[in-house]
Amino acid sequence: SSASPPNSMTLVRYNSSTAQQETPKKTKFGPLGALRRGDWYKTKEILDKGVDWILNEIKVSGLRGRGGAGFPTGMKWGFMNKPSDGRPKYLVVNADEGEPGTCKDREIMRNDPHKLIEGCLVAGRAMGARAAYIYIRGEFYNESSNLQVAINEAYAAGLIGRNACGSGYDFDVFVMRGAGAYICGEETALIESIEGKQGKPRLKPPFPADVGNVFGCPTTVANVETVAVAPTICRRGGTWFLSFGRERNSGTKLFNISGHVNNPCTVEEEMSIPLKELIERHAGGVRGGWDNLLCVIPGGSSTPLIPRHVCDTVLMDFDALIQAQTGLGTAALIVMDKSTDAIRAIARLMEFYKHESCGQCTPCREGVDWMNKMMWRFVKGDAQSAEIDMIWEISKQIEGHTICALGDGIL
Ligand code: SF4
Repeated sequence: SSASPPNSMTLVRYNSSTAQQETPKKTKFGPLGALRRGDWYKTKEILDKGVDWILNEIKVSGLRGRGGAGFPTGMKWGFMNKPSDGRPKYLVVNADEGEPGTCKDREIMRNDPHKLIEGCLVAGRAMGARAAYIYIRGEFYNESSNLQVAINEAYAAGLIGRNACGSGYDFDVFVMRGAGAYICGEETALIESIEGKQGKPRLKPPFPADVGNVFGCPTTVANVETVAVAPTICRRGGTWFLSFGRERNSGTKLFNISGHVNNPCTVEEEMSIPLKELIERHAGGVRGGWDNLLCVIPGGSSTPLIPRHVCDTVLMDFDALIQAQTGLGTAALIVMDKSTDAIRAIARLMEFYKHESCGQCTPCREGVDWMNKMMWRFVKGDAQSAEIDMIWEISKQIEGHTICALGDGIL
C-alpha cells in the first residue's frame, strides 16, 4: 500500500477554496480513534468479497436512501454494475445538507469523518467507481476541514488511493465545497456545480446512473448517511441491519430533534420508533409537556407538518409518514408548541424557498414569490379572504410543472 497520498496535490486542486484546504487543522479525529471505534476493520476482506457480495448484503439489509427519497440503495447502486465503455465511473456523495432543521450528515463529518471515507470506498467498490466526490455544503467549513484531514490520513495509511487497503483496487476521494446554494442538494444541480457550472437542476430523465453524468461518465449520487453505514452493514451482515425497524423500513437512522423540546439533539435510533417516544426518550420531551404540543414537521421543512393527534401514534419511518400524508424526508423533526404562530412559521419557511429557488422554471420562480407575499399578508392580517383559495390554486399551478422537487416541496 502507498505510504503517502499519491495525489494529495490533486485533492487540493479540486477544492473550491484551496487556501482553506491547504492548511487543514489538526483534529482529534485521527485514524487511531476511528480504528478504535471499529472503522476500517476488515475493510480489505469486504473489498475482496467483490461487487456482487457487497451489493447483496446491502440489498438484504433493506437499506433505503437516507437523503429523503428512500429509494432502495442496493438496487440504485446495482444500476452502475454494467459496462461503461471504458469510461471511469464516479460516486458522488451528497453532503450539501441545507434543509432547514437538518444537521445529521454534519454530525458524521464533524465527529466521525473516517466512517464516511470508508463508506465511499465500500460503496465505490460496489459500483466499480474509480473515485468519490464528496460535495459538501460551503457553510460547513470546519466539517470540510475535518474531512480533508481524515482523507489525508487515509491516504497516508494506504486505506484509499492506489491499491486501497492492499486490495488491488484503486480509489480516490475528493472534497468539493459548494458555495451556499440549497438547490445544489438536488442531485443534478449538484453534478452541474461539480462540473463548474451554475448549480441548476437538469430535466430528468435521463437519470444520473442511466447515462453519462459527472464529466460525461456514469455517476451515482448518494447521501452521506447512506454511504457511511455501508461498511457496518457489510461487517455485521445485511440481516443484522434488517433486524431493526419493520418491513420495508429497516435499520437504524439518525434523527435531528429541534424546536420546542427540552433537549434538542441528534440521535441514532431504530427506524419505526414512535415519534412521541423519540422526543420523550432523547429530547427531554416537549417544552411544557406533551399536552403543550401543537404540531411537528417530521422530516425537514419539505415535509408537511402533522398535528398533535397524529403525533400521538405515528411511527418515524417512510411508510407510516407517507400514510400520515407527510414524509420521513431527512428525519429532522421540528417541534412546535402551542406558543407557535404556525402561519408565521410557514411564512418564514416560504421566505427560505423563495430565496433558494434557482429561477429557471416560471411556476416556481414567480409562484413562490407570489405565495410568499400572500403568506406575509396572512401573518399581518392584511389578506383578503379570496386569497385563501388563491394560494391553493397557485400551489396547484406549481405542482408537477417544475424541473425539480423544490417547487413541489413548498406545497
Ligand atoms: Fe429551479 Fe424551482 Fe425549477 Fe427547481 S423548481 S429547477 S428550484 S426554478
